[in-house]
Amino acid sequence: MSHLEKLEPIVETIILPRAAELDREARFPREAIAALGEAGLLGLISAKEVGGMGLGLAEATEVVERIARDCPATAMVVTMHYAGATLIEMHGPADIRREIAAGRHLTTLAWSETGSRSHFWAPVSTATADGDDHVLLDASKSMVTSAGEADSYVWSSQPLAAGGASTIWLVDARSDGLSSPRPFDGLGLRANASAPVAAKGVRVPLAHRLGGDGEGQGVMFNDELPTFVNLIASVSIGLMEGALQRAVAHVTKTGFAAGGTLAELPTLRAQLAQARNALDGARGVRAVALDRIANGGDDTFMRVLQTKAVAAEAALLVTDTAMRVCGGAAFRKDVGIERLFRDSRAAAVMAPTTDVINDLLARMMCGMPLME
Ligand SMILES: Cc1cc2nc3c(=O)[nH]c(=O)nc-3n(C[C@H](O)[C@H](O)[C@H](O)COP(=O)(O)OP(=O)(O)OC[C@H]3O[C@@H](n4cnc5c(N)ncnc54)[C@H](O)[C@@H]3O)c2cc1C
Repeated sequence: MSHLEKLEPIVETIILPRAAELDREARFPREAIAALGEAGLLGLISAKEVGGMGLGLAEATEVVERIARDCPATAMVVTMHYAGATLIEMHGPADIRREIAAGRHLTTLAWSETGSRSHFWAPVSTATADGDDHVLLDASKSMVTSAGEADSYVWSSQPLAAGGASTIWLVDARSDGLSSPRPFDGLGLRANASAPVAAKGVRVPLAHRLGGDGEGQGVMFNDELPTFVNLIASVSIGLMEGALQRAVAHVTKTGFAAGGTLAELPTLRAQLAQARNALDGARGVRAVALDRIANGGDDTFMRVLQTKAVAAEAALLVTDTAMRVCGGAAFRKDVGIERLFRDSRAAAVMAPTTDVINDLLARMMCGMPLME
C-alpha cells in the first residue's frame, strides 16, 4: 500500500471529523498522531535500515499537503516532526531513529527565541559544559509546535566552545528544567500547541549534539532548510486546495430565489480563477524547488527559499478570495473556510518569514552579500 493509500482513511475517519472541534478547543491532535504512527507515516522519511519507510521529501510533501486540505494544524505538527526527524536521521542516535521509524516518537524544532525572534540562525540561548560528557541548556524559546506534546526538541543554542553562530542539540522533552509556561491560544493552527518553552539548566549528553559544535548554521541551511520550507509550502498548498474546494462547493450549490447559483456571477468566477492561478503557480514553484533539490543546480538555494514565500503569500490571497466569494456564509464555522483562512496566516510569519526571504532573494538579484 502506498503512503497516500495509508493516509487517506486516517484523514477521512480521524483528522477531518475532529478538525473543527480541535480548533475550537485548541486541543492537540493526539488521536491523529497515534494513527499516523501506527500506519508507519511518522517514519516516512526514516531509513529502511532503522525500520522506516525509506521515502523522501517529495512523498513527505504529499502527506503534509493532503492532511492540510482538511486540518492544517495537524499538517504543521507533521511538518515539524519531519523537519526534526530529517536532522535526527542525519546526525542523531540510532535508538531515537528507530523509535521515530516505529512511530513511537514525535519530534519538533525549537529554534525561535524571544531574544533572536524569527532570526533563528542567530540564537541567544546558551550551552555550558557540565563535566566531560554533558551540557546544560538555558533558553527562552518563543514558539514551539507540539510544545509539551512532542517526545523531543531539535534545539538551537549558541556554540559550547567553538566559533560560529549556533549548535544544534537533540533534547529529551521529559528532561528536568524544561517548562512550557503558557498554553497556545492563537488565531490559527490552534490545535498544534505552538507554545513557548523555557529551559533552565537542562542536562543533555554531548552525544546528542546534531552536527559539530558551532556548525549549526550549516545544519540549518544545508541539511534542514530544503525539507522545512518545502513542507511549510505544502501546508499552504494543501490548505489553499481545501479552501477552494469548499468555496466551489458553496458557490455551485447556493442560489438565489430568483434563479441561478452564485457561480453564475462572472465577477465571482474571475476571482475563483485568479485564486486557482495563484495556487497552481505555487505548485509550479514547489515543483522547480523539488527538482533542484533532487538534481542540483546553481539556483537551488534561491528556488528553495522562493517556494515558501510564494506559497505563503498565495495562501493569504486564496483564502481571502474563498471567504469573499462565499459572502457572509463564510463567516459560519460549518462552511469550513474561516478556519483555513485563520490557519493560512501563520506561514508568512513563520521563519524564514516572507519579508526575510524576499530580502534574501533581492540581495541575490542585486549581487549583494546575503548577510551584512
Ligand atoms: C503557529 C506557529 C507555529 C510555530 N512553530 C514553531 C516551531 O515549531 N519552532 C520554531 O522554532 N518556531 C516556530 N514558530 C515561530 C516562527 O518560526 C517565527 O519565529 C515567529 O513566528 C516569528 O515571530 P516574531 O514575533 O518573533 O517575529 P519578528 O522576528 O519579531 O518579526 C516581526 C516582523 O518583522 C519582519 N522581519 C524580521 N526580520 C526582518 C528582516 N531582516 N527583514 C525584513 N523584515 C523582517 C518579519 O517578517 C515580521 O513581519 C511558530 C510560529 C507560529 C505562528
